[in-house]
Amino acid sequence: MNESLKAEHYERPQLKTPNGESSLLLHSCCAPCAGEIMEAVAASEIKTTVYFYNPNIHPIQEYELRKEENKRYCQKLDFNFIDGDYDKDNWFKRIKGLENEPERGERCTKCFDMRFERSALYAHENNFSLFATTLGISRWKDLDQVNNSGLRAADRYSGLNFWDFNWRKAGGSPRMIEISKREEFYQQEYCGCVYSLRDTNKWRKENNRPRVIRGQKYYS
Ligand code: SF4
Repeated sequence: MNESLKAEHYERPQLKTPNGESSLLLHSCCAPCAGEIMEAVAASEIKTTVYFYNPNIHPIQEYELRKEENKRYCQKLDFNFIDGDYDKDNWFKRIKGLENEPERGERCTKCFDMRFERSALYAHENNFSLFATTLGISRWKDLDQVNNSGLRAADRYSGLNFWDFNWRKAGGSPRMIEISKREEFYQQEYCGCVYSLRDTNKWRKENNRPRVIRGQKYYS
C-alpha cells in the first residue's frame, strides 16, 4: 500500500473475506464513510469496485458533490468506480407514506433496501459473490438495520453473500474522521434525503443553531 495512505500510528491487519472471496462490490454512500473502508480493503489486497447508487440524496447538486468526492478518492486509490442511476422518482415512490418517519425508522429501512437490492443486482450481473456497504460505519446509523437489509438483498441471488463486517470496531470510527480530514472530504450535514434535510433544519431551529448550508463545509 502507498505509504502516504496509511492511517497514522496504525498497522492495518489483513482482513479476510467471509469465504475467501478475492473481490468485493462495495456500495458507497459518500467519501467520508468510504475512506476508512477503502483503505482497509486496499491494505488487505481485496480487489474492490465501488458502486455509487444513492437516489435518496437531495437535491441533485448535493448528489453530484458527494459522488464527485467519492470518485476523486477512487481515482487516488485506483479503485474501479461505478456510477449508478439517480432514479429519484423510484426512490420517492418507494418511501411514499413514510415521509414523516424518524431517522432509523421504516423509511430508512426502505431506503437501504432499495439501494442494496440494486447493488445486489449489479453484483449478480457482474459476477461478484460478495458485496458490502459503507453505510454501517456511520454512528448515526443502526448497524443491525443496515446489516439486515444487506442480508435480505443478498438472499435474492444464490451464490451472493453480504459482508456484515463491523467497520466501526478496532478504531474504525476515529480513523474515518482522520482520513476525512487528511483528504479534506466534503462534510455533509444531513443524511441525504429531503426529509432528513427538513428534520435537521427543524432540530437546528429548535436548538438555536444555523440552518444547513449545503456544499460549503469540508473537513480540515
Ligand atoms: S434519513 Fe437517510 S437513510 Fe433515512 S430515508 Fe433519508 S436518506 Fe435514507
